[in-house]
Amino acid sequence: MLLLHNIFSIKTVDKIKIISDPQLGEIVFRKNAKARRYIIRLRNGEIKVTIPLYGNYTKAEEFFMESRQQLLQKVQSQPARPSPDIDVAALRRKAQSVLPGQLAELAELHGFKYSNVRIRKSRTRWGSCSSKGTISLSLYLSLLPEHLVEYVLLHELCHTVQMNHSPAFWTLLNKCTQNKARELRREIRRYRIDNINK
Ligand SMILES: [Zn+2]
Repeated sequence: MLLLHNIFSIKTVDKIKIISDPQLGEIVFRKNAKARRYIIRLRNGEIKVTIPLYGNYTKAEEFFMESRQQLLQKVQSQPARPSPDIDVAALRRKAQSVLPGQLAELAELHGFKYSNVRIRKSRTRWGSCSSKGTISLSLYLSLLPEHLVEYVLLHELCHTVQMNHSPAFWTLLNKCTQNKARELRREIRRYRIDNINK
């Protein structure tokens, strides 16, 4: 692990060790007595490595290095992490010109009714649906792959019938997505809209 120590700066605080990776940012290593193996988690762009009680930092770093290339690819394939100078006005124009029409088409195809659609600069949600049937969509949706945009639109359309995430809601959404609702949900969770233009 000599190489690792040359490339990355390291600081250790109590049971936490932080490595600063030039491309991946800070990697947090943490001991967890309940963990049974080494685990790497990538969440919201943050990478955390869990070390089991019997484990050690050297092993954990090796484990991380083995996965590093894969992690890099994962992080770089997330288009919802745009550069800070992202053009919001252009995104809004794109969203405004595409999303309302797409929503109307999907509603007609699957027999949903909604009262209104709004494009909002929401960083916390891709979409939402009010009890009055107004569907709000984030202008950042334009950054997602097409099939995930469709998933969000269908998700909100299903809320016009089921205002919750009950089994009935998922059954309905499954009908509209060829039984891929949960798979698509897992996929969209890899993308994040926080930390955009803050
Ligand atoms: Zn929902």
